[in-house]
Amino acid sequence: MAQEILVVGSTALDTVETAHGKVEDALGGSAFYFSAAASRYAPVQVVGVVGDDFPLEQLAALRQLGVSLDGLEIVPGGRTFRWGGRYHADMMGRDTLFTELGVFQTFQPRIPEQARRRPVLFLANIQPSLQLDVLDQMESPLLVVTDTMNLWIDTALADLKRVIARTHILIVNDEEARQITGQRHLLAAARALLSLGPRTVVVKKGEHGALMVRADSLFAAPALPLELVVDPTGAGDTFAGGFVGSLALEGRVDEGSLRRAVIRGSALASFSVEDFSLGRLLSVTPAELETRLREFAALTEFTLV
Ligand code: AMP
Repeated sequence: MAQEILVVGSTALDTVETAHGKVEDALGGSAFYFSAAASRYAPVQVVGVVGDDFPLEQLAALRQLGVSLDGLEIVPGGRTFRWGGRYHADMMGRDTLFTELGVFQTFQPRIPEQARRRPVLFLANIQPSLQLDVLDQMESPLLVVTDTMNLWIDTALADLKRVIARTHILIVNDEEARQITGQRHLLAAARALLSLGPRTVVVKKGEHGALMVRADSLFAAPALPLELVVDPTGAGDTFAGGFVGSLALEGRVDEGSLRRAVIRGSALASFSVEDFSLGRLLSVTPAELETRLREFAALTEFTLV
């Protein structure tokens, strides 16, 4: 039986514009992307906050995937966190158009009593002081996986380092790895991150895949080359969902399970970017997922002679 996962993160309404169109107030936020992916492999409970303006009926598909939303606090009279972004034509860069914190501004995560014993914790992108608060509420989780963003590296680095020290697996993107450590070269940056506490560091490199670094091993996975990327929002959180879900499914953390986790994360991320919001992530079938995992295996298979 898969281990149960708890995720604490942002639960948002996103307005996103890319070369392929625009969505307004669509389901978004790190915790929703994460749980849509992780629930493919293991039971997930979300702790987050929304206002009473949130369209709860939009969560039906997540519920159908078995995601528990009992820990989603609904603040009466409050306004849901909203984020707006516009992607550049190359789909790599983006500009944040607005960040309206709303109920997120005073969010104090309260982990429901029964969720404190969940063995797997994913600290999605929220303020590091809140991540520390969540860690303090948990009853010795077996596996703590952490994500962050440049905002917290700029404004709360000391707290972030405290979180990293209590983390087993750190997932960051290449820019964040360089920014936290001041190291230009990715491998040097990853090794510097390992020295802060985690046993494993996974560096996401967008369309260039992911690099996993441990004290005595390295693993590099490509991203699946795609002809069409509609909306890259949340790809990192989706990667983390597939990654953590896979580890929870297997119930152990070793070189083999970690490598499969990177590939499952990459496969789910490749679906996520095919549509706006959680659209594709919620519609992908187990058979489609299986086919894509095989495509990943074929992509890097070769013989030396
Ligand atoms: P990513 O594409 O990985 O940067 O993740 C995008 C998601 O992060 C969107 O769905 C946003 O709602 C969410 N987001 C944007 N800004 C923040 C923030 N300051 N804190 C937490 N989540 C955020």
